[in-house]
Amino acid sequence: MKNHEKSPLKETFAPAAGDMSAEDFRRVGHEIIDWIADYSENIESFPVLSQVEPNWLKDNLPKSAPERGEDFAKVLRDVDKLILPAVTNWNHPNFHGLFSTSTSAAGIFGELLSAAFDMKAMLWRTAPASTELEEVTTDWVRQMMNLDAGYKGIIYDTASVSTLHALAAAREGLDLKIRENGMSGRDDLPLLRIYTSEQSHSSVEKAVLLLGLGQKSLVKIPTNERFEMDARKLGEAIEADKRNRFIPFCVVATIGTTSTASVDPIAEIVSVCEENAIWLHVDAAYAGSAAIVPEFQTFFKGCERADSLVTNPHKWLFTPFDLSILYCRHTDLLKRAFALVPEYLKTDEAVTNQMDYGIQLGRRFRALKLWFVIRYFGRDGLIDRIREHCRLAKLLANWIEESDDWELVAPVNFALVCFRACPKNAKNLDALNERLMSKINASGKAYLSHTKLNDKYTLRLSIGNIRVEQRHIEKVWNLLNENLGAETSAQSAAL
Ligand SMILES: *Cc1c(COP(=O)(O)O)cnc(C)c1O
Repeated sequence: MKNHEKSPLKETFAPAAGDMSAEDFRRVGHEIIDWIADYSENIESFPVLSQVEPNWLKDNLPKSAPERGEDFAKVLRDVDKLILPAVTNWNHPNFHGLFSTSTSAAGIFGELLSAAFDMKAMLWRTAPASTELEEVTTDWVRQMMNLDAGYKGIIYDTASVSTLHALAAAREGLDLKIRENGMSGRDDLPLLRIYTSEQSHSSVEKAVLLLGLGQKSLVKIPTNERFEMDARKLGEAIEADKRNRFIPFCVVATIGTTSTASVDPIAEIVSVCEENAIWLHVDAAYAGSAAIVPEFQTFFKGCERADSLVTNPHKWLFTPFDLSILYCRHTDLLKRAFALVPEYLKTDEAVTNQMDYGIQLGRRFRALKLWFVIRYFGRDGLIDRIREHCRLAKLLANWIEESDDWELVAPVNFALVCFRACPKNAKNLDALNERLMSKINASGKAYLSHTKLNDKYTLRLSIGNIRVEQRHIEKVWNLLNENLGAETSAQSAAL
């Protein structure tokens, strides 16, 4: 890899006043773009997980800031020497842990330009480009996902924050004067209840904590053998709560759960919600991108009757972190929950002011990178990539099913495979699988993560990198089998 050690940059010092000269900016900027191109081209030569020990970076950096400006060429050399070794390379095609996500060149350019504009999208006036491009791009994504036209998209940083805003809007819709009177110090407020499955993401519970609802307002509905919410049990829980004079007000269902990418039965759940006039929020943070692929549309049936839905283009639409879209059918409630306009922000234009729809005042120009990504790949280009990831996941699942040494632990709906080693005569499969994962992760050759399903230690292998090819899946399958072979021969030698 070409790095700054090998190609020394010219010295670049800050002028006495003002910013870097345009001439220096051009020169350093070209270097940095070259650096990123080399990094991307050579991504497979890096370990997937950073190999540094905790505190290594801190121990190698000065304890306080430099008094005088330093040569910027030296700063860039430190990127190679100090930062790069401490990077876990999410862009590596053998990053299969958590959810495999990756940026794209178009997305990087979007981030670069938006940093250059440095606009704070609070009022339309302070950021017409961000305000309007956000409306246009989120509507493009809505159409690609075949979501109902009643949904309006708003961009937040993460799904956790999108879900928090959806639940705040749902609560505002109860007309219980919580905006004015809060939830504490009043005895006219019965227990409010939110329902989600045992498999839902921790962000739902965090939103409950932050909204002051308390954990006892959250009801976790059991799932079936496919890890899908049991809609009948949901209905029963709501009935029981109503008999107790609690107020059921929101259900959070998931399309693509974090552990297994299971899909809750949205069409059944939305009927329960309609019968009880309860807000349905759909968490499709991971799998929402798959809605653009025609053959996956079936998982999204019923979403046209939900109240809100979150999808993360930063997960599986090749858009750099962060960019989450909340689709909401009742943006009036979102506005009622969050709008608060001090005198110095009052304007008289009849426009959308984005600060009215959330907790943040200033917001980043995130729509730009999404616009770049969609225009560069086009709908078909995005579909092809997601479809290929799902094909590779099915291929791996077939190898697992055909082998006597491995088993699938959950159905493969999208591009996430949950499985574990189960060789004959092996004792303590949990410990065996944990050792296999640790060895592979420590090797730097691939990164897997785990979950627990029905109390079984389960390996998770997510496929979502923009550069992933079949050879990468063959590589990790070989790694798994080699490591298992070493384990089982060690075990038989010990006998
Ligand atoms: C990843 C994920 C989240 C959280 O995403 P952030 O954007 O990091 O907050 C929420 N729900 C599901 C189902 C996820 O997979």
